[in-house]
Amino acid sequence: MRSKHWRKLASFQTLWGLLVLLSAAARPVAAQVPSPESVLGFKVGEDRKLAEWSQVVDYYQKVAAAAPDRVKFAELGKSTLGKPFVALTISSPENLRQLDRYREIQQRLADPRGLSEADAEKLIAEGKAVVMITCTIHSTEVASTQTSLEFVYKLLTEDTARHRAILDNVIFLLVPSLNPDGQDMVVKWYRKYVGTPFEGSAPVELYHHYVGHDNNRDWYMFTQVESQLTVGKLQNLWHPHVVYDVHQMGSYSARIFTPPFLDPVDPNVDPLIVSETSMLGTAMAAALATAGKKGVVVNAIYDFWTPARHYQAYHGGLRILTESASARLASPIRVRFEDLDAHSLGYSARHASWNFPDPWRGGEWRLRDIVDYQLIAFEACLHNVAAKREMFLRNFYHIGRKAAERSAPPYAFVLPPQQKDLPAAVKLLNTLRFGLVEVQRAKQPFTADGIAYPRGSYVILLAQPYGSYAKTLLERQKYPDLREYPGGPPRRPYDVTAQTLPLLMGVHALEVQNPFVAELEKLDRIELPPGKVEPARRQYLLRADSNNAYLAVNRLLKAGAQVARLKVGVKDGAREFPPGTFVIRSGNVRELAGLGVDFSATDLALADAKLLRAPRVGLYKSYVPSMDEGWTRWLLEQYEFPYTSIYDKDIREGNLAARFDVIVIPDQSVAAIVEGHPKLRPPEAQGIGRETRRDAAREGLFFQGPVPDEFTGGIGAAGVANLRAFVMQGGTLVTLNSASNLPIEKLGAGARNILRDVPNKDSYGPGSILRIVVDPSHPLGYGMDTQAAAWFEHSPAFAPAFENAGAPGATTVARYPQGNPLMSGWLLGDSLIQGRSALMDAPLGRGRVVMFGFRPQYRGQTYGTFKMLFNALHYFGD
Ligand SMILES: [Zn+2]
Repeated sequence: MRSKHWRKLASFQTLWGLLVLLSAAARPVAAQVPSPESVLGFKVGEDRKLAEWSQVVDYYQKVAAAAPDRVKFAELGKSTLGKPFVALTISSPENLRQLDRYREIQQRLADPRGLSEADAEKLIAEGKAVVMITCTIHSTEVASTQTSLEFVYKLLTEDTARHRAILDNVIFLLVPSLNPDGQDMVVKWYRKYVGTPFEGSAPVELYHHYVGHDNNRDWYMFTQVESQLTVGKLQNLWHPHVVYDVHQMGSYSARIFTPPFLDPVDPNVDPLIVSETSMLGTAMAAALATAGKKGVVVNAIYDFWTPARHYQAYHGGLRILTESASARLASPIRVRFEDLDAHSLGYSARHASWNFPDPWRGGEWRLRDIVDYQLIAFEACLHNVAAKREMFLRNFYHIGRKAAERSAPPYAFVLPPQQKDLPAAVKLLNTLRFGLVEVQRAKQPFTADGIAYPRGSYVILLAQPYGSYAKTLLERQKYPDLREYPGGPPRRPYDVTAQTLPLLMGVHALEVQNPFVAELEKLDRIELPPGKVEPARRQYLLRADSNNAYLAVNRLLKAGAQVARLKVGVKDGAREFPPGTFVIRSGNVRELAGLGVDFSATDLALADAKLLRAPRVGLYKSYVPSMDEGWTRWLLEQYEFPYTSIYDKDIREGNLAARFDVIVIPDQSVAAIVEGHPKLRPPEAQGIGRETRRDAAREGLFFQGPVPDEFTGGIGAAGVANLRAFVMQGGTLVTLNSASNLPIEKLGAGARNILRDVPNKDSYGPGSILRIVVDPSHPLGYGMDTQAAAWFEHSPAFAPAFENAGAPGATTVARYPQGNPLMSGWLLGDSLIQGRSALMDAPLGRGRVVMFGFRPQYRGQTYGTFKMLFNALHYFGD
């Protein structure tokens, strides 16, 4: 073989041919990379044209095949609905050949413990900057996936000094869509209605199957597979210096936003990250100005408070956000200057100011405009990092080192091993682990701050690379009291104000303020100890302390086992079983021990118990998509509660009592539920008034637009009457948060919302954790402690109302205590809700309405109050 091979090479002709081939390989192979147009059949950004996900994947596979020396294509896993979830790695051929080495450098610098200053400098000199760009997490913000196609093509085929600098200095990770399911849903919807009066409207369902727009509020809880893939398979491997997250906002303010962000800044974010974020964002704004682009705003609308969107900023990197003005999906719009928002948060879109130096004058606005601005922003982001490669690496290393050497209170958080809901505590610890927080366990008892902790206590030391991430998730937030002007109404936070996981999850955790000594071992994964199953007797008792107890019961009911629930507590020797304890009379409990719940055998005669059956649950799904509906659906699936989604027409048609025991209406306004989308009535064919547009712009939300008739009208008066009939006939209606105004205003439930007409300046809780006092002997309070924490978000608070003829007064199951109930976040007007009801049981006819004045299943995080929602699903037929 060898000699034959050699003979071939020895021939002059072949040698010459090989040299030609070699030199061709060294030059850019521009001709080989296909243009987006050649694959898609249209130009990127063309009016009314959007690439669907399979076209995007197809294009990137072709690019990777054409330029394997510079592009790696990878499928990281599948999306929620089974589409390929993909990422590209793009860099120079030299860099791509040594990817493992560069990842290793990143990992070493990310955790610099034990690394000498001299060795760190060597790694900084050798390493590459890592930038990740993530597109269209919000699927109606359609442009960035399209932009990415053209950007990659240009980067690979246009041999400019800037492109060479990017490829040589940066490892560019591209996620063409953080939500492929939504990308296809929106494109399909758009294509269906293009050329009709409904062109450019948003779909009438959540564009992420479970969580809709909240999919970028999941970056510390990681409930959804897309967050798990992005953080688990890219972020945590590569520790990017910069993650650029590309979004769009409404149409009636600036053309694009870049950082600096607005106050408040979470004090747990390293100041260096804040400065670098402002620097890079401003450099991007300057690049847009250089290109003559108008309407660029910085330091407006978007704040820097929560880790839910800013995971990177607690992991040594920057999160750059841009928000572009939207067209109507891919359809152009015309915007008049005088319609631009003069009262946007932090600026006026009609007046020049330091942070908005060059107002856009109005006119046509189309997808191509968004693409043009984003192309500049993409390149500016990457090129600025390339130019400052060394600075980004060195600062990244300094941030990690400073975090690991932290020496200030608090020093640690401790979770004692005795927890009411141990599976929730283990979930909390593993959630921190997924975010790269080190968790240790005490090998011996120890004392800290004068408190004795047993062996097996879990300890999170804050002196570690991601200690500030752990701190922001474990401590109580003190949100600053920000006003629109001195003495004025509160300034709306961009999102919520609290994220204290121990409170949300009902887990006991203590902060340690002084240095302490303990013998600790590091845990890679926290195992849930299996539950105890005693030798069988007449029946098993299962306390309702943990959410997993309900999961166990659902599995037993599904298998046909007989399960009841104690109405009054019992004692069996020294053991106590409170009201709500499950009584398992048949079924295989041994296979459920893995859920970490204990099955206690007893021969007691237990007559005072309610026999359970799997509830027939109807979950209302509005065509005005409610993220809370999606979260509820997700939660019910996690805990294996059977349910049926019901739509406006199901409720309008009635006969609900024959189909359901319980109907759940997730958090939504009464108007959205009852009226739904307005019908399209020419000549107001453009549907929604200017004020609504402005509100949408201010809130950064996408304009919905008119939708086909079949999706309009809500449940209507007929639906209201049918819901009332359902309850009167013995059904249980469960309303969550704002939806609780429905039974109060429309069904005659015996309660009133005392906050209904109170202005923001007197009462404001935009996503905060409040203390509640629960009655654990009430069927809705089973399994709870007397003290609990509830998620209050623009919530109602109730008082009984006796004036409703025919309705008995409602019973309070949970109430706010006397004294300020605020535990974490921000609350104005606490005195108004002191002593008021947070959860009411309102009998009506033969049935009842269960009114939650908080979100018991908030974003899949409130493990501490899931049980009250689960209890409500079992609360019928009493
Ligand atoms: Zn967005």
